[in-house]
Amino acid sequence: MAFEGLAERLQSTLQKIRGKGKVTEADVKAMMREVRLALLYADVNLKVVKDFIQRVSERAVGQEVMKSLTPGQQVIKVVKEELTALMGGEAEKLAVSDKPPTVIMMVGLQGAGKTTTSGKLANLLRKKYNRTPLLVAADIYRPAAVSQLQTLGKQLGVPVYSSEENADPVEIAKQALKKAAEEHYDTVIIDTAGRLHVDERLMDELKNMKEAVDPDEILLVVDAMTGQDAVNVAERFSGQLGITGVVLTKLDGDTRGGAALSIRAVTNKPIKFVGMGEKLDALEPFHPERMASRILGMGDVLTLIEKAQAAVDEEKAKELEKKMRTMSFTLNDFLEQLNQVRKMGPLQELLKMLPGAGRIKGLDNLEISEKQLKHVEAIIQSMTPEERENPEIINSSRRKRIAKGSGRPVQEVNRLLKQFDEMKKMMKQLSNMQKGKKKGGFPF
Ligand code: GDP
Repeated sequence: MAFEGLAERLQSTLQKIRGKGKVTEADVKAMMREVRLALLYADVNLKVVKDFIQRVSERAVGQEVMKSLTPGQQVIKVVKEELTALMGGEAEKLAVSDKPPTVIMMVGLQGAGKTTTSGKLANLLRKKYNRTPLLVAADIYRPAAVSQLQTLGKQLGVPVYSSEENADPVEIAKQALKKAAEEHYDTVIIDTAGRLHVDERLMDELKNMKEAVDPDEILLVVDAMTGQDAVNVAERFSGQLGITGVVLTKLDGDTRGGAALSIRAVTNKPIKFVGMGEKLDALEPFHPERMASRILGMGDVLTLIEKAQAAVDEEKAKELEKKMRTMSFTLNDFLEQLNQVRKMGPLQELLKMLPGAGRIKGLDNLEISEKQLKHVEAIIQSMTPEERENPEIINSSRRKRIAKGSGRPVQEVNRLLKQFDEMKKMMKQLSNMQKGKKKGGFPF
């Protein structure tokens, strides 16, 4: 996972100061030495590290910490706030034009993920924000890019404008804008040409395009795995073309995090989205505070909830909630719920979003595989409808039959039944706790 080393180092450093009732200047100094090293290991830009250390140090020996009743906690709060500020503070929204269509130019070097991200963005805007996007294949120098975008468009059901005869990207973009106006597409996403390196011709072309289409957003796509190279590319695009934001791709990979932590401070341009995988739904709006929280092991419950909301059918969720409350939750419901969780993504990644998960030993070795879920499914499916409704009737001969039917050992059947029983007990406790409390949905 991205940021792993950084997260580990920072968390172990902060752990030492967490419970302190008194924090001296020497404590702060020692801590900051370790924080500095952690950031440098993570490949954060040198100047950015220096500024960060200075800001945190000043605040950590200041009144807000020293006068606090819990100085250790207060220092951690300062680190979190400064880390958030470093990544841009507030999440930055995408600009929307008052006069449709909104025009978004996607720019970047080859291989950064520009074409894929164009498709992902169209998907996100349509699904989450009800927009009707038109994709434009203007990367005519990489022949595969046009057909790649067309394939993505087909998969998503988003139209793609391309032109066989027109070899001028600016002309293609102009034609696409015309089409968008005529056919009422409210968002135009232009996949522009990339190059292997930043060069003058590329910049000139992009400047011409910018002038011709007057974009609301110019989003630079950079690969997080390339660390400080990504920062340099961002600096050059920002200086020469002028960009409105950055999309950092491949944050699902093993990146140390340097790009995410440096880009905003170096270019003064916000990271607006992050790519979290190759799939077309793996693009997330970037929230600096949530990211800081993840790095410091405080979890990212908000993203987890959003993922759940996206994956879970609302009607089914309501029904399930009622069943839990009224204690009529059965193994059938359990199976249904497993399938919903599966849609949210790899379980290990989800668990890491829980507060304190970084400190749970062995989480990385926890391979909750598709295979295991399939076994659970097979076991439940080998039960009769009556057994699924009333697992209490499953005696030892029934257990043997179920084991045989599902091709799993009896112990596994036993384990599942035990887990289900424990889950029901937990639900009972929760529902008792809820009683007396005001009824209502989630607090967001
Ligand atoms: P372009 O040359 O900039 O248009 O790059 P592409 O869109 O063709 O992407 C290059 C490669 O990066 C492809 O194999 C993509 O699947 C992959 N890719 C793009 N974004 C992500 C991401 O967020 N995570 C991962 N793991 N791979 C990505």
